[in-house]
Amino acid sequence: MSYTIVSDVCEAKADCIPVCPVDCIHWIKDKQWMNAKGTASTYIDNETCIDCGACLAACPIEGAIIDEWKPELQKV
Ligand code: SF4
Ligand code: SF4
Repeated sequence: MSYTIVSDVCEAKADCIPVCPVDCIHWIKDKQWMNAKGTASTYIDNETCIDCGACLAACPIEGAIIDEWKPELQKV
């Protein structure tokens, strides 16, 4: 299992990146990809994620991270 970052809801605050204990949150195409809001977005490497929930607790944007794996919502 894995959490998911909803690419078009994320606002690139990056609060999630430093709290991930396994360093599995990265920028989509090194911040070159822009979402529907016109911001960069991060994504979760689902093969490394350990479902700890730290990213969701740290994210200030409601709905940007969900506690289940929905690959159709997350670009990489
Ligand atoms: S998922 Fe949340 S904390 Fe992480 S970059 Fe997007 S808006 Fe910021
Ligand atoms: S749930 Fe935990 S391991 Fe998975 S991306 Fe979020 S902080 Fe990282």
